[in-house]
Amino acid sequence: MSETLPFTIEQFYKFISERKLMAAKCRSCASLLLPPRNICPKCFSTELEWIELNKKGKLATYTVIHIPPAQFQSLAPYAVGIVKLEDGPHLLGMIQGVKPEEIKVGMNLTVDFDTNLPAQWPIWPRYFFKPP
Ligand SMILES: [Zn+2]
Repeated sequence: MSETLPFTIEQFYKFISERKLMAAKCRSCASLLLPPRNICPKCFSTELEWIELNKKGKLATYTVIHIPPAQFQSLAPYAVGIVKLEDGPHLLGMIQGVKPEEIKVGMNLTVDFDTNLPAQWPIWPRYFFKPP
């Protein structure tokens, strides 16, 4: 049962490796916690459950990175954006599959997963945004 799994970032990325976008949902006030936390910041309830989110959303804001950290050097320039998901929460991530100059605030994006990375610490499985 997914509700019994811990509400941690580590568990969030375990779900990502299973190609699932999951958030913690407060059973008391129905808030969605993304990233997950083990206590609701709104009503302080600890009665939470994991729920799978719809992967669709709209781009709220973005920036293009020209001078990246060393591990992302080969990807530059690349875009990082905040997507407002259809279920409500905002999610930060890299935008792929669209040229930086063609990215527009408000465009539809969907969450996809990169499962080609070696699944070993400290490299976590990755999600990213792409046009639907
Ligand atoms: Zn709550």
